Amino acid sequence: MLVRFWGTRGSLPVAPTAETVRRKIANALLSANGRRFGDEADARRYVEQELSFAAGATYGGATPCVELESGASYFICDMGSGLRPFGIDSIKRNAAGHSKTYNFFQSHLHWDHIMGFPFFAPAFDPQATIRIHAGHPDAEEAFRRQQEEISFPVPFEWLRADIEFVQLTPGQTHEVDGMRVETILQNHSHGSYGYRLTDGDGRTVIYSTDSEHKLEQMAVEAAFIDFFREADLVICDTMYSLADSVSMKEDWGHSSNLVAVDLCHQAQAKCLALFHHEPTYQDEDIERMHQESIRYEELTRDGPALEVICAYDGLEVRL
Ligand SMILES: [Zn+2]
Ligand SMILES: [Zn+2]
Repeated sequence: MLVRFWGTRGSLPVAPTAETVRRKIANALLSANGRRFGDEADARRYVEQELSFAAGATYGGATPCVELESGASYFICDMGSGLRPFGIDSIKRNAAGHSKTYNFFQSHLHWDHIMGFPFFAPAFDPQATIRIHAGHPDAEEAFRRQQEEISFPVPFEWLRADIEFVQLTPGQTHEVDGMRVETILQNHSHGSYGYRLTDGDGRTVIYSTDSEHKLEQMAVEAAFIDFFREADLVICDTMYSLADSVSMKEDWGHSSNLVAVDLCHQAQAKCLALFHHEPTYQDEDIERMHQESIRYEELTRDGPALEVICAYDGLEVRL
């Protein structure tokens, strides 16, 4: 299975400003310290290998959209603004013979998770099939409402693809085009759903975003430990640093990097991807949180190592 991150930011799309780009270039020139580069490839090696990720790149700013490439159909978690580039890319793959069946799994219906759909070009293709799986009974209402005239110029009724809404039930195992799918209800405004997706090769990905874990409710947390059990990859809402999550932002519906490490340790998951980054955090803040998470994982490890990666727009993870 190949996991492709098309959008990793939470709540609101963001883009680097002119000031941010200038600061990064100036600092990169400073740290090159007069060194000369033979060609672009040589300079690129320096950027990729000698600068930190935050100094030489960016985590990106599109809102949640993650593709799981496995089998003939498409599998996509959430339709944040990262859905637009995915849609354009998939049209190229369709021209090369890929199936036009799109299976979506919606964590929930907040704007940052559905805002990409009005810009999803395959929705205009009469040969495309779009199945939107959600735990919510009111998913269709949310999608239609976002394209009402007061909010958007193109109504939902103009879309030409065969669009179907499928409600999934927590506790049941569903089979979708060769993918085994289970869901769990999460603590978030209007409810959100985590997904456990296992492909034909037995690779398991957990997609669990917009989920607030309460340290004092261990009975609830035991269900999540079970749900995450021995997953190959856990994509987890780690919007806030722990200090932010327990002081100012309790009950905002999100979790911290450290809680995610604890849950993954207890579930004996293999890899954790930090996800749904706070839009006010700069690349350096996210990188610091990543390093802090790696250190915390090492300090609290009591069994096999958990790899901690930090999702960014464009990241591909092969399982
Ligand atoms: Zn969100
Ligand atoms: Zn939300």
